Amino acid sequence: MKPLLEQLELNTKQDKVVYRHDLMPEEELTASLVWEYSDKLAAYLHETYKGDKSPIVVYGHKHPFMLVYFLACVKSGHAYCPVDVNTPIDRVEDIIATVKSPVVLVSEDISLDASTLTVPEAKEVIASTTERISKEHYVQGEDIFYIIFTSGSTGKPKGVSITYNNLNHFLDWYTGYYKEKGPQVFLGHPPFSFDLSVMSLWPALYMHAPLVQIDKEHLQDFKVLFKTLEVSKATVWISTPSFAEMCLVDPSFNQDLLPELEQFVFCGEKLFSTTVEKLMERFPRAEVVNTYGPTESTVMVTWMPLTRELLEKYPDNLPVGVIKPGTTVLIDGPESGEIIIYGNTVAKGYYENPEMNAKHFFEVDGERAYRTGDVGHFEGDLLFCEGRIDFQIKLHGHRIELEDIDNNLLKNPKIRQAATVPSMADGKVKSITSFVVYNEPIEKRFETVKLVKKELAQHVPEYMIPKKVVFLDEMPLNNNGKIDKKQLKELV
Ligand code: AMP
Repeated sequence: MKPLLEQLELNTKQDKVVYRHDLMPEEELTASLVWEYSDKLAAYLHETYKGDKSPIVVYGHKHPFMLVYFLACVKSGHAYCPVDVNTPIDRVEDIIATVKSPVVLVSEDISLDASTLTVPEAKEVIASTTERISKEHYVQGEDIFYIIFTSGSTGKPKGVSITYNNLNHFLDWYTGYYKEKGPQVFLGHPPFSFDLSVMSLWPALYMHAPLVQIDKEHLQDFKVLFKTLEVSKATVWISTPSFAEMCLVDPSFNQDLLPELEQFVFCGEKLFSTTVEKLMERFPRAEVVNTYGPTESTVMVTWMPLTRELLEKYPDNLPVGVIKPGTTVLIDGPESGEIIIYGNTVAKGYYENPEMNAKHFFEVDGERAYRTGDVGHFEGDLLFCEGRIDFQIKLHGHRIELEDIDNNLLKNPKIRQAATVPSMADGKVKSITSFVVYNEPIEKRFETVKLVKKELAQHVPEYMIPKKVVFLDEMPLNNNGKIDKKQLKELV
């Protein structure tokens, strides 16, 4: 199999549209345009930041230039680090400082302390140069290709560092599922700062299949969203189960809306058999695939096409699938236990974070291994997930460390103690509640809740703001003297 960058260059020979974003039809990109633009921008980055190979933060949402930026970074020997517009400035600045980004490539408005390059400026660079980057400067092998920051229990996000080798191993396996199929059109829904986006972005480009991006603006309004879906001609749907469940609320989400759709691929959280049943009814021509994996092992490591027999046999907990070649999963326990992944897609670690690396990464037989924090078991060669051993949750598809919220609440000097717990229904996290011990008397409860949330919003993305904030005089403690989260959950 050819490595990603070689394949992308080859694809320019039969030029096709590869990136569509219907809010910006005029910015549609073909394979050769992406290649040319990123070549020129990479030459500029190489010249300007000679000798500094630090990762580069790329800030924005789904603008087509995000793709040009990513490639310009890796062609000039820098890892790219996508940061979505849903990230508060405080956290963006923190990420920039952690990776020591020499410049921030931006496609949306933001005012930063760091130096930035905007889309109009990038276009000017591209228009005014004929210089192309030389291949010797590309990231290669064990160099980091991208860094995705995920919620960290200490209150600081952790930068998962995926190497070029990791990504190529992932592509080699994943694109194999499409070899026997006809031409595909991929639908991209998650932001680039969520690793699920990697499942559509690089495979689509690799296979020279158009990628239709759904902007977050579309998600606010079903009418607009469904119009985008209707004209997309998508054959492959990749999302969290939550996103499909949201669409299923509307009865017009069916095969008539997406007549070409052949496949749903899910990852990122538990897929419920009720969701699969509905999809099978509404989309009789599409297969439904469950996959599992953490960002720390390049998106996913299992694959499981679901059948009616499997739904009947495992109605409460569907298998997440068979493990990909090149990866091994160990269960740390007699039958069920923590899932440990080792092999060729395990990340290099968290970027410059020795403490967290020591906690989660180690070696097995000379290969990198990662402790997932997920509990699972095998039945034959089928892996099943049972839940978490820690305080990480998924809320509407977003990965959140509850302690990340607590630690950021505690940045507010008026808060003495904080503990956040999930509120569950039908086996799913429906919302989160933060319990807070406040240093001052509370006169206007509603106003104070608003203030607490506003202060928190300076440090964490919108989806991490608790639905409810409850004030307590003191935290309940368990026998070990720790905050009794079990009791707090009962209060919810
Ligand atoms: P992320 O790194 O955001 O992809 O989140 C990875 C975590 O999501 C895993 O460690 C699991 O806890 C959870 N997860 C991913 N896929 C599945 C799945 N198919 N079923 C249950 N949980 C999943």
